[in-house]
Amino acid sequence: MVNSDFIQMLQNASVPDARFEFRCMLEQITGNRFAPALNADQQNRILSMIQRRIQGEPLQYILGEWEFYGMRIFVGKGVLIPRPDTEILVDTALHWANYKSGLKILDLCTGSGCIALALKKNLPDAEISAVDTSETALAYAQKNADYHHLAVHFYHADVLDKNFAENFRNFDMIVSNPPYLTSQEMQELQIEVRHEPAIALFGGPAEDGTYFYRKITDTWKDALKPSGLLAYEIGWKQAERVSMLLNSHAFRNIQTFQDLEQRDRVVSAEKI
Ligand code: GLN
Repeated sequence: MVNSDFIQMLQNASVPDARFEFRCMLEQITGNRFAPALNADQQNRILSMIQRRIQGEPLQYILGEWEFYGMRIFVGKGVLIPRPDTEILVDTALHWANYKSGLKILDLCTGSGCIALALKKNLPDAEISAVDTSETALAYAQKNADYHHLAVHFYHADVLDKNFAENFRNFDMIVSNPPYLTSQEMQELQIEVRHEPAIALFGGPAEDGTYFYRKITDTWKDALKPSGLLAYEIGWKQAERVSMLLNSHAFRNIQTFQDLEQRDRVVSAEKI
């Protein structure tokens, strides 16, 4: 088979951007996005990747890696794939940090570690801690930290555990991309997203998906210094509710930032 046959297989299965996805697979197998022809072993390997993709598995899991904030991030089953939208949260945090040195930063629901690692890379002398309840996710986070030679303290815990949170004080900044999809949105997930861990997506009992914002704000606000920043990634319809919540917890300078599609994606606020 030749390369155009493989692209055709992806197109026949209605994979969007079939050509791009094929080039990603090709690069992974040969080291060259434009490798002109594959030997028999390489053909078998790309065929098995294409078969997984046709069955709806996300390209990122098949490749075992994706890019976030210009960094290679290893991913696989059991960990949320880093999204470009989440780069807005990193931008917000870095803008606020404004190159100050020695900041203490906490990332809650770290997953692959992508946010914590992007912050550590850009603020090398920051002291960064990150928490997640999934051991699978934390194994990826540690692998990513090792790969980039970045030191982040990872903790395996439930972010809603008040006793655990009491060990954390005097942070300059807390960032989090918690699960925030509503049960309605969970029923309408794209086939690829259905392969991702529901625990990283489903925003819990509240009908509007804001359960984790309420719980995390309540559980962790004492871990922040006065004037410290709390920044959340949010679902695009949640800005008003999350802003009101932060207002009711006596945060000020509440701001909303949009993603590349001009939808509300981040809410940040300073503790009084
Ligand atoms: N942005 C993700 C999605 O739409 C959801 C991530 C999350 O719940 N934190 O699939």
